Amino acid sequence: MDLSFFEEMEARIPKSGVRTRFAPSPTGYMHVGNLRTALYTWCIARHYGGTFILRIEDTDQARLVEGAVDIIYKTLADCGLSHDEGPDLGGPVGPYVQTERRALYAKYADLLIERGHAYRCFCEKSESAEDSGVFTKTDDPCRDLPREVSDARAAAGEPFVVRQRIPHEGVTTFHDEIFGDISTPNADLDDQVLLKRDGLPTYNFANVVDDHLMGITHVVRGTEYLSSAPKYNLLYEGFGWEIPKYVHCSPVMRDSHNKMSKRHGDPSYEDLIAQGFLTDAVVNYVALLGWSPGGEREFFNIQELAEVFTLQGLSKSPAIFDIDKLTHFNAAYIRALSPEAFAAVAEPWIRQAVKNPAVDPAAIAALLQQRTERLSEIPGKIGFFDELPPLQPELFVNKKAKSSLESSKNALLAAIPVLENLPEWSDEAILSSMKALAESLGIKPATLLWPLRIAVSGQLVTPGGAVELCRILGREESIRRLRLGIEAVS
Ligand code: GLU
Repeated sequence: MDLSFFEEMEARIPKSGVRTRFAPSPTGYMHVGNLRTALYTWCIARHYGGTFILRIEDTDQARLVEGAVDIIYKTLADCGLSHDEGPDLGGPVGPYVQTERRALYAKYADLLIERGHAYRCFCEKSESAEDSGVFTKTDDPCRDLPREVSDARAAAGEPFVVRQRIPHEGVTTFHDEIFGDISTPNADLDDQVLLKRDGLPTYNFANVVDDHLMGITHVVRGTEYLSSAPKYNLLYEGFGWEIPKYVHCSPVMRDSHNKMSKRHGDPSYEDLIAQGFLTDAVVNYVALLGWSPGGEREFFNIQELAEVFTLQGLSKSPAIFDIDKLTHFNAAYIRALSPEAFAAVAEPWIRQAVKNPAVDPAAIAALLQQRTERLSEIPGKIGFFDELPPLQPELFVNKKAKSSLESSKNALLAAIPVLENLPEWSDEAILSSMKALAESLGIKPATLLWPLRIAVSGQLVTPGGAVELCRILGREESIRRLRLGIEAVS
């Protein structure tokens, strides 16, 4: 066998520094567990000044979703998980899309056959029988076909899969950074399919070939791959390649028994954003699902995560995704934003409910920032800016404010001319004029401001008080509403 191709491929592999990869399948959304994997993988690369690679694993043609790769790019970019090599950026070990690497896998399958660690299997079996490994090595008639027979049948165009030849005896041990050493008797490992009839590799083969050829030093992925890790080690050994560090992360759970799953309605990253969570809060919270910085501190931006991240902080036990905890993080992140930044993120949500171009969304945002836990709460709180709901007289009655229907009517009647004649429409001007009016009427400011706020908003709970609401609504609209208020309490 001419090895020059393989030697050239070896020569391309960067040999120094940490190299990690995120290897999503383009499913059309970013699962929370996948986001966490991407984050940890990125953190390892950044922490050690290494290289972070994006590889698209699209060999499962049945699962392909249009536009899904764009979602991956967008999610990584939104989250600040910048990659150094990938399909869009290129790099020394491309292509970075598995279907574009197709020819490579067949070559490496041949190499493995040559080295005695794989064989062609010509038996017709259903995909599921192949995948489940039910067809065990002991009874596969192709396992011991003489090489010339196998070569001749392949050359004659007979379809085949390539299977890994697992030794009958012995024990395979692999090391995981979180789980330590795990040993499995080889008799328990199946001769898994490496190359399918269509010439495309299975995940089980492609991940090993690609991770090696891309010079990956730390393989970070979910524990669902843990049971296959001994077979991967046998592949690395079969090729004579160095085994990378494995980091298998415990699943993110919905509750103590079930993994989070999009199919069962659990939110993906995109769903969380649509539910009004901020990307930074999601990233911070997701980082703590299965990793601990080893202290009391919980709030980290992405750069800080990269600085403090260590493999030692990763946990063996599954983490439960707690939406209330995430909401708590989100509220804290919202409060910490600058008013301008909050106005920018809140604006689309404000505009869902407030279409009137005369109303300044930044002014509404200022009222909302300290009382918003999720951006999705916003539209429901502020619809009254566009349209005054029908006024319910009972809302004008409030014991603490000493407000009754009668006091409300008097207050509104008195307030209108004062507001009409205010030289300036500002919080200070409105507030001081109303305080002065209350004093001259011999009532508490609250007795005046309560009906004002109810009249301009039509609702019991409002973001902001009467003064701010009037200022944002503008003089004309405020006075129009105060008149409607008089009608309602009369
Ligand atoms: N494509 C695999 C997945 O999305 C990646 C597993 C890995 O990172 O090795 O689950």
